[in-house]
Amino acid sequence: MTRIVVIGHGMVGSRFAEEVVETLADADVTVLGKEPQAAYNRVLLSSVVSGVANPESLTIAGPDHPRVATLTGVSAVKVDRAARTVIDSAGAVHDYDFLVFATGSVARIPAIQGVADSDGFVSGVAVLKDMADAQDIVKHALSARRAVVLGAGVLGLEVATGLAKRGVAVRVVHHADRLMERQLGWEASAVATTSLTKLGIDVHTGVSLAGAQATRGKLSSVRLEDGSEVLTDMLVMCCGTIPETSLARQAGLEIDRGIVVGDDLATPRDPAIFAIGDCAQPPGGGTGLVAQGWEQSSRLAARLAGVDGVTASEPRSTDVVRVKASGLSMATMGVSGDFDRADPRLRVLSLKDPEGGRFIEVVVSGGLLVGATCIGDKAIAADLATLYTRKIPVPSDPAQLLIHALAGQASAAKDPAEMADDDIVCNCNSVSKGAICTAVAEGCDTVAGIAKATRATTGCGDCAALVAKLVTAPSTPTAAPAATERAVP
Ligand SMILES: Cc1cc2nc3c(=O)[nH]c(=O)nc-3n(C[C@H](O)[C@H](O)[C@H](O)COP(=O)(O)OP(=O)(O)OC[C@H]3O[C@@H](n4cnc5c(N)ncnc54)[C@H](O)[C@@H]3O)c2cc1C
Repeated sequence: MTRIVVIGHGMVGSRFAEEVVETLADADVTVLGKEPQAAYNRVLLSSVVSGVANPESLTIAGPDHPRVATLTGVSAVKVDRAARTVIDSAGAVHDYDFLVFATGSVARIPAIQGVADSDGFVSGVAVLKDMADAQDIVKHALSARRAVVLGAGVLGLEVATGLAKRGVAVRVVHHADRLMERQLGWEASAVATTSLTKLGIDVHTGVSLAGAQATRGKLSSVRLEDGSEVLTDMLVMCCGTIPETSLARQAGLEIDRGIVVGDDLATPRDPAIFAIGDCAQPPGGGTGLVAQGWEQSSRLAARLAGVDGVTASEPRSTDVVRVKASGLSMATMGVSGDFDRADPRLRVLSLKDPEGGRFIEVVVSGGLLVGATCIGDKAIAADLATLYTRKIPVPSDPAQLLIHALAGQASAAKDPAEMADDDIVCNCNSVSKGAICTAVAEGCDTVAGIAKATRATTGCGDCAALVAKLVTAPSTPTAAPAATERAVP
C-alpha cells in the first residue's frame, strides 16, 4: 500500500482524498480535519450569515471509500520528517509515504487593542473563515441591534449585507478611501455606497479601528482612528487571509507567504511532502480561489498515480469577481478599478445611474471586452462575464453593451447551441459543455445529477442556470469553436 496522509479536510483536502483513491489503486489515505463536521462549501459561508442557506446544505459529499479514513475534529500537531510520521491531537501516530498539506488559510486579524483577551475574541467579535464562525455570527446577530464590519472587500460587503438582511444596523469601516479599492473605481464605489445606504448600511471609508471596548465581557463599542466612538454589539473583521503554514514551518519546510512548492507541488526540501490549495505557494503564486486548489488536487492525484506528462497548467478560473451579497449585485472583471482611462488602446464606455443603483463600465480593446464593472444589474453582469470569459467579439457599437436590449442578444451567446464543446461552463471545476453533454447522454437528467457526475455547480454555483439549460436542451447542436462564428451582431 502507498500510505498517504492529508492534513486538512477542507474544500481541497477532501477533493484530493477522493481523487487519489480513484487514481492510485493501492492508496491508503488518512485525512486529518481540525473542524468537527464533514467538508463543506466554504465559498458559500456568507449565505449562512444572510440566512439564504442553512449549514447542512453546504455539505460536500466526501470520499466514501474503504481505503479513505477521515478523522474529523482531529488536528495534526507534529510532523516528524525523519520518521515519516504525523502525530495528531489525540496522540495517534500516522505513518506516511506521502504527506499532503491542505491546511488552507486563516483570517488576517489586525492588531486592534481590546478585540481579544487571553481566552480569545471578546464576545461579539468575529471573523468569517469557517462554519463555526458563520454560526457564531448568526447567533450574535439574533440579538444584536448594531454591527460594525471592518473591511469593505468582497467578503466584508457580503457579511455587511447579510447582517443587514437580518435586520441589524450595520456600519462598514474601511481603511481605503473607497469600497473594494482593488476592483472598483471612484464612481463605481460611490454608486455602491449609495446602494448600501439604501439597504440601511452606513459606510465609513478612509479610517480604521483604533480599539474596542467591552462591558461585562461583551463588546459594547469600537473606537475609530479619528477618535469617534461607535456603539455596537458586534464586530466582524473581514481583513483578508493568510496561508496556514504553522505546522509546515515547525516541520522545517520552506515558507514564504505560503508553503513553497514547485510546479510538481512538492516541497523543495522534502520530495515526499506536497502542499495544495490555499496553504500552498506555487511558482506563480496562490490565488486564494478554490479553482486553483482543485486543479492542483487533480494534478497531484495523477502525479502520485504515475500518470505521465502531468504538467502545471493554469487553472481555467477567471478574474471575474462577483459579490454574493444580499440586495446588491456587483461584478468586476479584467480591466477595472484604477486604470488609465486615457490609454488610446482602450475604449471605455459607462452608464451611471446612482438613483437607480446602477453603474456599468465596459472596457473594449481589439474588438473584445477586456474589462467591466457592473453594479445593480445581474443580467447584464452575467452577459458581460460571458463575453469576457469566452472572448466573444463585441458589437460594432459597444455602447449597446450597456443596455438591456443588447444584453438580451448577448444572452443568446449562452444558448447551448452557441457554445463549443470545449467552452468552460463551470470555472471553479473547469467543466466544459462537452463533459456536461456527455453526462446528459449517459442519463443524468438533473442539475444535482450533473453535479455528482462532473462536479459542475459545486463551487460558487454561478453556472447552475447554464447547466440547467444544458440538461433540458442536451441535443442542441454544438457550435464550431472559432470565436468569430460566435460573434454577437
Ligand atoms: C466566506 C468565504 C467566501 C469565499 N468566497 C470564495 C469565492 O467566491 N470564490 C472562490 O474561489 N473562493 C472563495 N473563498 C475561498 C475558498 O473558500 C478557498 O479557496 C478554499 O476553501 C480553499 O480550500 P482549502 O482546502 O485549501 O482550504 P480550506 O477550505 O480553508 O480548508 C483547510 C482545512 O484545513 C484545516 N486545518 C488547518 N490546519 C490543520 C491541522 N493542523 N490539522 C488538521 N486540519 C487542519 C482547517 O481547519 C480547514 O478545515 C471564500 C472563502 C471564504 C471564507
